[in-house]
Amino acid sequence: MSSSESCARRSRAYILRHMRLRHVGNATRGHGLFTAIAATALMACLAAPAWTAAQASDTLDIYFIDVEGGQATLYVSPSGQSMLVDAGYRGFGGRDADRIVSVAKQAGLQRIDYLVVTHYHGDHVGGVPELAARMPIRTFVDHGPASERGERVDAIMGPYLQARSSGAHVEVDVGDRIPVDGLDVRVVASNGALLSVPLEGGGLPNPLCADFMPMKDETSEDAYSVGTVTAYGRFRIMNLGDLSWNQEYGLVCPTNRIGTVSVLLATQHGDEETGSPAFVYALRPKAVVASNGPRKSVVGPLVRTVGAAPSPMDLWQLHQSFLGEPLNVAEPFIANLGETDAGHWLKLSARADGSFSVTNGRTGATKTYAAGD
Ligand SMILES: [Zn+2]
Repeated sequence: MSSSESCARRSRAYILRHMRLRHVGNATRGHGLFTAIAATALMACLAAPAWTAAQASDTLDIYFIDVEGGQATLYVSPSGQSMLVDAGYRGFGGRDADRIVSVAKQAGLQRIDYLVVTHYHGDHVGGVPELAARMPIRTFVDHGPASERGERVDAIMGPYLQARSSGAHVEVDVGDRIPVDGLDVRVVASNGALLSVPLEGGGLPNPLCADFMPMKDETSEDAYSVGTVTAYGRFRIMNLGDLSWNQEYGLVCPTNRIGTVSVLLATQHGDEETGSPAFVYALRPKAVVASNGPRKSVVGPLVRTVGAAPSPMDLWQLHQSFLGEPLNVAEPFIANLGETDAGHWLKLSARADGSFSVTNGRTGATKTYAAGD
């Protein structure tokens, strides 16, 4: 079989699988999703020789790339397909795009299959044009039009929309699946809406809700973030972008629609305006990862919340924090010490039985977490 024939067969299987899995929600957006996926699969066939995926493996590898307090989280499926959530900042000589490309190459990738842009703030979408200029991005996933207006947003959206036109584009709704081969990626928040139907394993009352104290509702782009729960077998990781304290509550109270997760990427980079005990303790993650910067996000309260958790959990920080109270986790759990710009990552490798390990790119040391509760 020629490579284009085998690619066409894979594309057909890919499209059929997606049709089976497709969430039946907003018909227009759903139809757009299907059309874009089909177009992407065909485009991949046309360019097949240059667009080979990474080697298949038996682990889901997740790189928490240091973008100095933004987000750039790279998921590499056991199938070799990839999903990048956000691309850090623009500028700084292309620093964040260069770091993403460097990690992607280490992971054996020659392209990004899905780029999920959680929302249109500079620490998440700013680096997309520079990344798109360095590496092919097949499908851009976002929540739809920007919720904010004005010069600041226009300066971000113009270059983003131009970069986005280089690939397929899909807008996702709550309940949609992002069809990364080998993973189950569910959208649990998008465009201001939150998941209402429990995921498998969710739906039980959450007794921790009684002690929850609400904060002011968030009205910026943060509140429109695309949030995902990604599963590989029994392993699950949650990533809510920059959703708010009250929206986290809305996902797990009065019933916990998520269930438990293995790993939580701390919302809003681990800032004090996210991470209530009602939310974190209900999810029972074994590890929480904060994509903070040395002076981006006040992580002290999260350090305390994780330290007092009723189930054992570790907090990993991308940076030692110098913002707010001087409270950080122990140094082996911090990727970047001091205020230097070293760009060390954290790498997670997960197995289908739910076990996983986290490696600190600064020290090379790895901590393993067993499967089960
Ligand atoms: Zn942010």
